[in-house]
Amino acid sequence: MASKKLQQFLQTNLEDLAQRGLLTTIDVIDGGNGPEITIDGKKLINMASNNYLGFAGRQDMIEAEINAAQTYGVGAGAVRTINGTLAVHRELEQKIAEFKGTEDAIAFQSGFNCNMGAISAVMKKGDAILSDELNHASIIDGCRLSGAKIIRVKHQDMTDLEAKAKEAVDSGLYDKIMYITDGVFSMDGDVAHIPEIVAIAERYNLITYVDDAHGSGVMGKGAGTVKHFGMQDKIDFQMGTLSKAIGVVGGYVAGSKELIAWMKSQARPFLFSTSLTPGAAAASIKAIELMQEHPEYVQQLWEKADYFKTELKKIGYDIGVSETPITPVIVGDENLAQTFSKKLIENGVYAKPIVFPTVPLGTGRVRNMPTAGHSKEMLDRAVAVYEKVGKDLGIIH
Ligand code: PMP
Repeated sequence: MASKKLQQFLQTNLEDLAQRGLLTTIDVIDGGNGPEITIDGKKLINMASNNYLGFAGRQDMIEAEINAAQTYGVGAGAVRTINGTLAVHRELEQKIAEFKGTEDAIAFQSGFNCNMGAISAVMKKGDAILSDELNHASIIDGCRLSGAKIIRVKHQDMTDLEAKAKEAVDSGLYDKIMYITDGVFSMDGDVAHIPEIVAIAERYNLITYVDDAHGSGVMGKGAGTVKHFGMQDKIDFQMGTLSKAIGVVGGYVAGSKELIAWMKSQARPFLFSTSLTPGAAAASIKAIELMQEHPEYVQQLWEKADYFKTELKKIGYDIGVSETPITPVIVGDENLAQTFSKKLIENGVYAKPIVFPTVPLGTGRVRNMPTAGHSKEMLDRAVAVYEKVGKDLGIIH
């Protein structure tokens, strides 16, 4: 029988969550996560996935996964440091390093535990981490786990970064100081100011960490935001996920030989959690090869995204400051954002609301992720739905 204490806790808190509209509802998709999805028998244009290049459902990716399963089995059988390092894992790490322009790389089972493991492997009590205030939850949790002092930096504010870096150095309180930022911010689609960050880091001797979950496969011909700026020798940690544009699952850090060697003996999810499945590793290698051999896939993503953004702007929407395919349609009010998403879905466009506390209060939005897999016809249909629903709700006129 469940403990009374637990029952009471769950009952009270579930009711509270439900009353505040924060209880998660989860839609179940029939079939794969492509440019169109089916939910409860209804086909919808999918504007909510991170499958930027449409790789998740590609036949050659599926074959890479199946072939690896046939060679290695479906599971690695152990953690990496015991005997769960299969040839395909090292091949993946070498491929990532080659693509990112670094000496080596380390692969984790997800982007989330990569951040948890990598940050805490290097940063400790007695250190300080300067962290952009809009960084992803996994960065925040990784920073907390590290025990280092966390200093929030105003979003993309280089003056604030410099002032706080100076203050931290001058205080003499800290051994190491890191600046950590998303490469592409997932809610607004703005891009980290890598050259300015590098200049400040050099002045104050900061360790630099860029989480490029949304930049990998998108920026720098697929190789990411750091490579886009040609700064792969200047950023210490190029972190990324295999779950978004790559279309599979997993996370990694690309960096110097010494950094990777250190993490391989210190990062706890690497040491104590079973390695990536061989199929996931092999499909991820295939995805990187596809980007290297076919630059047109990344180009198609940008063309589709530019088209979609232009059409939404033309009909009067505020799509914020996005410099990447991430396309927020900002409506302000939190309840309006919820209703907007509900009506879009009813009318055939699957786009989810994003509200406080994920984004600042009063900046509620519906977020869209156009992908290379969307046809122009799908995007036109989506824009027509946006026009109808926006007019019905008085968001546009
Ligand atoms: N970092 C950022 C910036 C992300 O957007 C995400 C995914 N939501 C992650 C890390 C975690 O990646 P994963 O889904 O591969 O665990």
